[in-house]
Amino acid sequence: MKGSPGRRWKAAACAWWLASTIGVSHAATGEAESAASVPRFAGAAKVDGRFVNLYAFRLPSLGNLAEWYWRWTLDGGTRPPAGGYASVPVRTPDLDYLRTNRSDTTVTWVGHATVLLQLAGLNVITDPQFSDRASPFGFVGPERKVRVPFTIAEGPHVDVVLISHDHYDHLDGDSVDALARQPGGPPLFIVPLGIDRWMRERGIVNVVAMDWWNARDVPSGAGDDRLRITFVPAQHWGSRSIGDRFETLWGGFVVERLRASGVVDYRFFFAGDTGYAPLFRELVHARFDRFDFAAIPIGAYEPREFLKAQHVDPAEAVRIHRELNVRQSLGIHWGTFVLTTEPFDQPPKDLATALAKAHLAAEAFVTFEHGETRMLEKAAR
Ligand code: ZN
Ligand code: ZN
Repeated sequence: MKGSPGRRWKAAACAWWLASTIGVSHAATGEAESAASVPRFAGAAKVDGRFVNLYAFRLPSLGNLAEWYWRWTLDGGTRPPAGGYASVPVRTPDLDYLRTNRSDTTVTWVGHATVLLQLAGLNVITDPQFSDRASPFGFVGPERKVRVPFTIAEGPHVDVVLISHDHYDHLDGDSVDALARQPGGPPLFIVPLGIDRWMRERGIVNVVAMDWWNARDVPSGAGDDRLRITFVPAQHWGSRSIGDRFETLWGGFVVERLRASGVVDYRFFFAGDTGYAPLFRELVHARFDRFDFAAIPIGAYEPREFLKAQHVDPAEAVRIHRELNVRQSLGIHWGTFVLTTEPFDQPPKDLATALAKAHLAAEAFVTFEHGETRMLEKAAR
């Protein structure tokens, strides 16, 4: 049948995707081990040509992964929300406002790890993923279950794109290409080391590649303010195919608004994709004492034994929120693609439990509906 790949092909592609996205360890090379001797605020270290995490880290073995995938499939896969995926509310944001706003500080959840931040008159988007699948293939790999609230063409002109790492649910070729071609000129792409090469191969030239702790100032879209964007470590990994694990770097971003005087008057954190490690308390908090707002992942965490190293669960997300001294956090990396086995709408429920356990108010760590915009407030200083 023309255009319809055979089942075998599909199964092979699926296995390839799983191994490259969920990951398996390479015991023979020890590539997934940590580099405990790395100095705290130096850049990332490489062992045998591959980047290493700062704290102990190991991906599941291929055998365990295959067994899990088999069990998941036999169990009928991930449980959808009670009313089905079509019942998930999607808001259409006030696009006229978002396109013209250069003064208010706002945040809009597009879905998954895609967040539009308006700060200092600049439009910053994290891990833009506007496609129907988080996969190199059009026919296999995690499918979008909830539609995008607006397209790149409908949205505001983007000034800065932040890419946390190169997994398909965070780095999407079509979305990046569309942003590079946006009317009014391409944005500045700020990417981890190694992803600049991928960008250049696509013909994208306005790219800044960052090592951990590198920073870059971007002049404001209005007035004398500027943004300072710093790339910080996360506990994760990178890969787009079987042979390239750990070849490109991963991390999160601190976005600060600086007044003309140099005073930092707003601080935003984007965690990217991460497992829990003491790095938030020992490293990020040591450099940045508090945050006004943070986008922290709360989804893709079960089965825990396979995913604990690379994805936090809601309780660990709350721990990061507390360790970083954040005024208000937004739960991201859930409710958009089916990546793992927890029920589709479980993350906010587990988040509510974790907040109650930590004696935190629900407003301290919120979730949005897709397309929801909120004005951001400053923490008291
Ligand atoms: Zn990832
Ligand atoms: Zn992810």
